[in-house]
Amino acid sequence: MKTIELEVFADEIINEKFICLGCLFVPSNKKKVLVSDLINHRCLFEKSKKWVWNHSDCPFSKECKEQWHNNNKCEIHHTEIRKARSSNSQIKIAKRWLNYLIEHNRNNKELIFINILYIDLEMLEINNFGTENYHNNIYNKFFRTVMHYGITTFFSEFEKVIIKKVYHDKGSQEFHEYFPELNLMKLNESISGKCIIEDTNINFLESDHNIHIKLKKNSYIEAHLIQYIDLIIGTVTQNIFYLSDDSLKKEIAMILRPLIEKMLKEPHNRFSEYGYYKKQKISFFPKFKLEDSKNLLFNLEGNLMEVFKKDQFYSERELKMPYYDVKQSKLNSWVA
Ligand SMILES: [Zn+2]
Repeated sequence: MKTIELEVFADEIINEKFICLGCLFVPSNKKKVLVSDLINHRCLFEKSKKWVWNHSDCPFSKECKEQWHNNNKCEIHHTEIRKARSSNSQIKIAKRWLNYLIEHNRNNKELIFINILYIDLEMLEINNFGTENYHNNIYNKFFRTVMHYGITTFFSEFEKVIIKKVYHDKGSQEFHEYFPELNLMKLNESISGKCIIEDTNINFLESDHNIHIKLKKNSYIEAHLIQYIDLIIGTVTQNIFYLSDDSLKKEIAMILRPLIEKMLKEPHNRFSEYGYYKKQKISFFPKFKLEDSKNLLFNLEGNLMEVFKKDQFYSERELKMPYYDVKQSKLNSWVA
């Protein structure tokens, strides 16, 4: 039987207008390669292509500086990327990580599988719902949807999919209650036969790898993947919703721009040079206002993708962030 083992790294962005849920699915046998690629991108010393955590272990320690090693240890966090406060290391590493996704797809690698869903709270008229309970309820149900779609679409050629663990950023502590153990157990039931979730607990993890390293724990590896999904959903959201006018956020957003444009315009194009087909997916919900969405969403059980008509999920959408030309804007500020 053709079987694949996966680990899932989840993150979200929540505001009054939408809930964005993102899941990064990593095949367990490729996790090492993906993480060591991300970690090696921390080394900004041109002669070296390999990162070592301590300057004393660096093969170039005579030319390289201890300060560089300290700087490049930084956590990568999309909200922290701002012109006025980001360090050179944060900027360069974030750019490299985003370019890595583009290269990964171009070279037809199979390490990075991402499903992102935006739930349009305005379309659901969620403000009328009032209580936080509805938010939690919606969050839980759509989280299962995001997982379900990723498992069945990206890994459709496998007869069995085994989810070893699901990780989530601990920083959003308040979301603990969003994830009762029941949630993953329900998912287990709804796709039983094809998929097994071995650990139905969500593993909450500090995203800052330095905390894990200090405690001499190997979980700094998973912390990198939490940082990676955070950076990607932040960058995708900046392109689509234009949440920030910060010039650095715009500059960084432009790295994924061509990929996102294509994904939204031609979601099913298996021949796109951007190589996202059956690897990355962005969708929105709902396309049309739901009649009595309050009752519908609250009472709904099982899997949303199948319950709702497929046409309530859509991918074609304009990007709100205008095209941003880094060179042009530098030139303008120089002339001014
Ligand atoms: Zn070094």
